[in-house]
Amino acid sequence: MNSLHAGIGMTSARTRGRMIERLRTQGIQDEVVLAAMSSVPRHVFIDEALSSRAYDDVSLPIGHGQTISQPYIVARMTEILRNGKQLGRVLEVGTGCGYQAAVLAQVAKEVYSVERIQPLYLRAKKQLFDLKLRNVNVRYADGTSGLSDGAPFEGIIMACAAPALSDALKEQLAVGGRMVLPIGTQEQYLYLIERTEAGFRETRLDAVKFVPLLSGKT
Ligand code: SAH
Repeated sequence: MNSLHAGIGMTSARTRGRMIERLRTQGIQDEVVLAAMSSVPRHVFIDEALSSRAYDDVSLPIGHGQTISQPYIVARMTEILRNGKQLGRVLEVGTGCGYQAAVLAQVAKEVYSVERIQPLYLRAKKQLFDLKLRNVNVRYADGTSGLSDGAPFEGIIMACAAPALSDALKEQLAVGGRMVLPIGTQEQYLYLIERTEAGFRETRLDAVKFVPLLSGKT
């Protein structure tokens, strides 16, 4: 961490505290999620020119037309995924800057995260390495169909919206596992998919706005 970031870090501990209080008022109750978000420095994932806004409840540009999700969405998706329990192996589709992966690394034993844009993949990989998060495995790949060599996953999070739920991805969910993802194009909703012995249960949750899931690598 360079001295500039270390300097911002001093203020960030306080700023992060305010972010946690705001998340509580927004309805996030899982103390494990709140602790995870309080321990991950969000500003280091964001361009220095924007780091003063790192803890605001907004999504911010991370380059290549992509955005880091607002803290509330990261907290909400992680809370739904966890469902009050420690997670084993999880998959994130859409690493972006790596922030969500860093949060997941605090609440899951093992995190696989897939990104299709090479410069974002490289930057996230370095950032997660610098933060010594050794339980995160970042891959440069098209995650439309998940990541077959890591499956099955106890949890799957998608950081980009597909027009419809893919069967291939559903099949990578372990029995007893949960998947949280945005579905839709113009109008998008967050969905929770639970896999039980009997099959899949889908629940529609909040209206959301995510960047689209795109195919191929770039
Ligand atoms: N969780 C991220 C959010 C990044 S935005 C963060 O914390 O910053 C969503 C990301 O999904 C973008 O980086 C985009 O490139 C990626 N994405 C879109 N389609 C994808 C696909 N098919 N496979 C892998 N990543 C994809």
